[in-house]
Amino acid sequence: MNGKTDIKSLTPEELKTFFTQMGEPAFRSRQVFSWLHKGVTKFDQMTDLSIALREKLENNAEIICPTIEKRLVSDIDNTVKYLYGFNGEYVESVLMSYHHGNTVCISTQAGCRMNCAFCASSLKGLSRSLAPSEMLSQVLTTQLDSGEHISNVVLMGIGEPLDNYDNVLAFLHILTAPGGMNIGQRHISLSTCGLVDRIYDLMREKLQITLSVSLHAPNDAVRSKIMPVNQKWNVDELLKACRDYIDATGRRISFEYALIDGINDMPECARELGTKLRGMLCHVNLIPANEVMERSVKKSTDAKVKHFFDILSDCGITVTVRRTLGSDINASCGQLRYNQAAGQGGN
Ligand code: SAH
Repeated sequence: MNGKTDIKSLTPEELKTFFTQMGEPAFRSRQVFSWLHKGVTKFDQMTDLSIALREKLENNAEIICPTIEKRLVSDIDNTVKYLYGFNGEYVESVLMSYHHGNTVCISTQAGCRMNCAFCASSLKGLSRSLAPSEMLSQVLTTQLDSGEHISNVVLMGIGEPLDNYDNVLAFLHILTAPGGMNIGQRHISLSTCGLVDRIYDLMREKLQITLSVSLHAPNDAVRSKIMPVNQKWNVDELLKACRDYIDATGRRISFEYALIDGINDMPECARELGTKLRGMLCHVNLIPANEVMERSVKKSTDAKVKHFFDILSDCGITVTVRRTLGSDINASCGQLRYNQAAGQGGN
């Protein structure tokens, strides 16, 4: 805490106010916003500002930037996993290349308190939520370091985005603002384990982002076993919130379903899910569960995945099986872990 303003966490409107309060003209804020999104790390690099203004900014504000602690490139695909350091906290981001462009998967919290039974991200609990600047910096630094243009951002790394609601909303606002990275809302996905109260809050924002909901089970008996959040909001409450969200935003919801051997991959689970989702504007993404050393999760066999897929398809549900990327560098879903000290824990 040095009393300086975390300037990269300010939305364009807040930045404008910050400048007017310093007695500077508002248009300067647009210049600075644009510099920040070019990835400058020091006010001195903002060469079209007077030296006096650069000094004033230096005294009143700071530019949060991560250190790159590790960079791992997959031998199987071109997936790159970054370990970023922010002031003693270490989080992971993953760069994935698809035919439609480059996607970066970012972390929203250092750790997680949701404690899903199959996921590595909450093994050490929650340390703290990330600031908007720290989420933005993961996107910016990944783009600059890799030299790849980032067209899509997914909030599916470490943490529960809706458990860091205000910062995530500010981050989305900054990320989509003209004059900055200017990423279209439709190029952003946010994944939640199902914090129903926050899904309603998000619904009122009427954003065009894609909401992904980690469902992983068709009923309370199965879901409560693997996701503690189900004790607070059960499957019916969650699905009702999803239906309301679709009605209010007109956006299709994507349900994630990690297939875990013998837990949620039985044909009757597929049939029950198919019945519950029938007629809903949704898409189901099946993910053969990724194995996490400390969690007793076994991946479903290919035959079971195929059978599950076929049952859902027969129910008229749009369903895909997610391609696993970066499995050799533990960069796949649920394999990202919070590192309390760089070099410990993850790989
Ligand atoms: N907290 C958010 C986002 C982070 S997890 C959420 O729960 O949605 C990103 C996705 O990976 C989620 O769908 C999560 O359930 C899934 N996931 C976690 N562990 C996994 C594992 N071992 N195998 C496959 N997917 C997993």
